[in-house]
Amino acid sequence: MRDLVVGVLALQGDVREHLAALAECDVIGRPVRRPEEIAEIDALVIPGGESTTMSKLALAFEVYEPVRRRLAEGMPAYGSCAGMIMLADEVLDGRPDQKTFGGIGMTVRRNAFGRQVDSFEAPVDIAGVEGEPVHAIFIRAPWVESVTGDVEVLGRVTAGPATGRMVAVRQGNLLATSFHPELTGDLRVHRLFVDMVRDQAS
Ligand code: GLN
Repeated sequence: MRDLVVGVLALQGDVREHLAALAECDVIGRPVRRPEEIAEIDALVIPGGESTTMSKLALAFEVYEPVRRRLAEGMPAYGSCAGMIMLADEVLDGRPDQKTFGGIGMTVRRNAFGRQVDSFEAPVDIAGVEGEPVHAIFIRAPWVESVTGDVEVLGRVTAGPATGRMVAVRQGNLLATSFHPELTGDLRVHRLFVDMVRDQAS
């Protein structure tokens, strides 16, 4: 089978870390930021960063509509943190002019974990990821406030004040996490996504 090309939306955020993770998952990772590049990928990763900035740049670089179109046609995508926000149909505590690509029937709350716990780390069990819980790094992270019936909840926080909050979800070919597996060297979430991409391609 030919090598799959997984684009990483390279408008802003931790693009390099996702490219490094993809390189270890036996796919071609490629930074993408132009409309014609969006047409040439099998799947898309939307990195962590700042969703308000990403939203503005997606419009400025004219990739907003092309990405929406490809998502609507079924292209697999994975978003971490700000990338999760970009895949949400609804955003709470966003900026009024903030736009998302949408695709996952969920409402996310930006910077949900609050000021005191701006960043924290916790083990999270993810359905579909074998072995020990994923070591999840949350940085000014969103959580998933509510989901529609089509969304599968893959992981929740299991300790501390945010216990029970949804932080990993999947709807069809779309995967999103509140946290950043690209910062840990643990490839299991990327492998889960690459398996979804392979299933779609075959
Ligand atoms: N708080 C950021 C936002 O709203 C997300 C933070 C992150 O990606 N680490 O976009």
